[in-house]
Amino acid sequence: MKPAPFAYLRPSTLEEALAALADTQGAKVLAGGQSLVPLLSMRLAAPSTLVDINGLPDLDGIAADAAGVRIGALARHADVLASAEASASQPLIGMALSHVAHPTIRNRGTTVGSIVHADAAAEMPMVLRLLDGTVDVASVRGRRTVPAADLFAGPLESTLAHDEVAVEAFFPALAPGGGVAFSEVARRHGDYALVGVAALVDTEGGEVTRARIGFVSVSDVPTVVDVSDALDDPAGAALAELEPADDIHATAAYRAHLVKVLTPRVLADAIHHARERTG
Ligand code: FAD
Repeated sequence: MKPAPFAYLRPSTLEEALAALADTQGAKVLAGGQSLVPLLSMRLAAPSTLVDINGLPDLDGIAADAAGVRIGALARHADVLASAEASASQPLIGMALSHVAHPTIRNRGTTVGSIVHADAAAEMPMVLRLLDGTVDVASVRGRRTVPAADLFAGPLESTLAHDEVAVEAFFPALAPGGGVAFSEVARRHGDYALVGVAALVDTEGGEVTRARIGFVSVSDVPTVVDVSDALDDPAGAALAELEPADDIHATAAYRAHLVKVLTPRVLADAIHHARERTG
């Protein structure tokens, strides 16, 4: 199919982009186009105008330090995955990104675009939520920082206003006693996960002081469950809070089964990772 007609703008400054979004009803940001263009082609989205942000300067940065990793709106998945500094500061970024789509899609798709797209089947929105990251957002009204806990409103729906541009995402670094792990089941590597699971643990003297699990493709939004008090049965604790859904890819029962299998495995891997790092 072909998209419905739309106007196309390619501003060269952020201010021009923000003004265009504020002044044009039905305008949408175009970043890597790896989710938006298929939606246009299937006529599941019909914006009046695309505001292409690919010509904006200084938005493709990836900066990592002891505090965490800052990823600009035009940093491609592939560049983030290739960043040794990003993975050293927060190893979960690379662990999860290696499961995001296929190389050609990662070459073009942006990590920030994936977060704003807010697909519960996507890895990086869940990673940002699990790590308690943030997104910096700009509009003609100024700038604000949105915690990941306030970012996901529903299926494919973020809480950003139609005229806001996400300029940067911040993923906190892994704490000294921390450990992380990720695993997912997909029909083929790079396909969307039928279920994906990440674990984040804190340890002190080798003992777990906090454990949280993030889930991909289980609920309508990226979901995190605290299992600190249920280390013997983390899957049971998770399933008490989750309501796996049926769709054409998997039944709810199969998703629940995958949660049961993957959760204890990923939690054990994260604890092992923490103990390895602390010696
Ligand atoms: P776009 O497609 O350009 O935009 C997506 C949405 O976000 C649009 O609504 C757009 O307006 C908005 N947006 C984008 N950037 C901004 C911004 N900076 N500020 C405000 N709004 C913005 N993803 C996964 O996570 N896991 C997978 O396994 C996976 N598999 C895929 C398989 C295929 C075949 C394809 C085509 C895609 C797949 N993807 C997968 C999606 C891919 O990761 C996309 O790159 C990502 O979802 C969107 O990033 P983008 O830069 O392409 O955004």
